[in-house]
Amino acid sequence: MGYRVKVLLLENSRLYLVFLTRLFKELGFEPVTADDLPSARRYLADGGFSLVCMNMYLRGCSAFEFVRDIRALAKHVPVLMLTANKAPPKRSQAMSAGITEVIYKSSIPEMADRIGDFVRKHLKTHQAEGRILYVEDSKTETAVISKFLKSMGMEVDHHNTAEAALEQFIAADYDLVISDLLLKGEKSGLSLVESIRHLNEQKARIPVLTVTSYDDVARRIELLRAGTNDYIVKPVVKEELKLRVTNLITNKKLVDRVIEQQAQLYELAITDQLTGCHNRRGFREFADKFFSDVRAEGQPVSLLMIDLDHFKLINDNHGHDVGDKVLYAVGTYLNDVCRQGDAVCRLGGEEFIVMLTDCDRARAMRVAKRMRKQVEALNPEELTVTASIGVTTIPGELDSANFELAMSVADQAVYRAKNRGRNRVSFKSLGSR
Ligand code: GH3
Ligand code: MG
Ligand code: MG
Ligand code: MG
Repeated sequence: MGYRVKVLLLENSRLYLVFLTRLFKELGFEPVTADDLPSARRYLADGGFSLVCMNMYLRGCSAFEFVRDIRALAKHVPVLMLTANKAPPKRSQAMSAGITEVIYKSSIPEMADRIGDFVRKHLKTHQAEGRILYVEDSKTETAVISKFLKSMGMEVDHHNTAEAALEQFIAADYDLVISDLLLKGEKSGLSLVESIRHLNEQKARIPVLTVTSYDDVARRIELLRAGTNDYIVKPVVKEELKLRVTNLITNKKLVDRVIEQQAQLYELAITDQLTGCHNRRGFREFADKFFSDVRAEGQPVSLLMIDLDHFKLINDNHGHDVGDKVLYAVGTYLNDVCRQGDAVCRLGGEEFIVMLTDCDRARAMRVAKRMRKQVEALNPEELTVTASIGVTTIPGELDSANFELAMSVADQAVYRAKNRGRNRVSFKSLGSR
């Protein structure tokens, strides 16, 4: 039953050993117990441990002394020290000795909580999955680092030059770029960062970790100014690389999530919750964007204002819930019949508006008449529903300044259709009042 992470337990007391073994298993570790210091050293020399958890004293030796052995054998492994001492050593004292954290042996549940927190803070958060673009021109360095990154669970694409890397970066999605500073080819790692930062918003925010042989302040400032998020100095220490990579990817994914949630909130804010059509705000944003970015010169745009007939009676006779179902049916129908590029909005109540792009008066009238017929045939909730439709067209020679006016003219056209007996289509031109 292969556990992935091993913890070395150094503990005299049987009672605590039983507790720690069970707790670490629950936390997903494979616990290994050493009964004396020589066997602890042997285990550490074999490697593969992600954590050492030791009592403050083990067979007369203090953790403060033994941690030196640990650091010699397993440099980067966090060391958790447990103590029953009523006056535990100061945290700063323990840290400068090389101990990562001190936990007081209080009640078992309290210890379990604190050890759980420690593990989450120091180990669980330093795991991430991601896709890395790795740019390095040295073959040996590439072999070693690629292998290490893959062993961390990363997907790695490698390139020798900044030019090829940039092309690949634009073509695919990455969570992180790791780039050597000095590269074959014209461009350096520095200019790669600068190029990335000038791409579109989504690409430009991908984190870059620069690998450099220089460790002087001026170079570091240069790198950070160019827009690199972090750097690591050669020769690369694997544990350091691992932590920097996981931090950068974790943060990047956090930002991904925030951006996604923002998009969902925005979608919610511009959508009518009953029908899934645009709401008034979404419709205005659609129209503004259309007139500023999409509309070709001279392209006519038509508006169809759709108001259901005697809708109040449906509510009165069948209840508000049935009324809602009817509105839903009409809204989805309108959404279905419109072309991509057109917009359907529920303005409120039982009033809808449809914007037909690249559509002149003649075509708008054909669409509106077909729509009127189809609404009548819809029969939602076994009810006959009819609509009065007011049509107007913004001719090609008029601009978006007339949009507001066009909406009110379409509304006037609806009134005319109502006055003429409902369940009909009426056109009113922008010029006529
Ligand atoms: P007309 O043919 O003149 O348009 O008559 P009408 O009854 O359709 O028009 P009126 O504007 O008098 O009434 C609209 C009704 O729509 C009143 C209101 O109860 C109902 N309504 C507005 N919003 C909703 C809603 O969200 N759900 C439901 N079920 N009814 C709504
Ligand atoms: Mg190089
Ligand atoms: Mg109305
Ligand atoms: Mg109505």
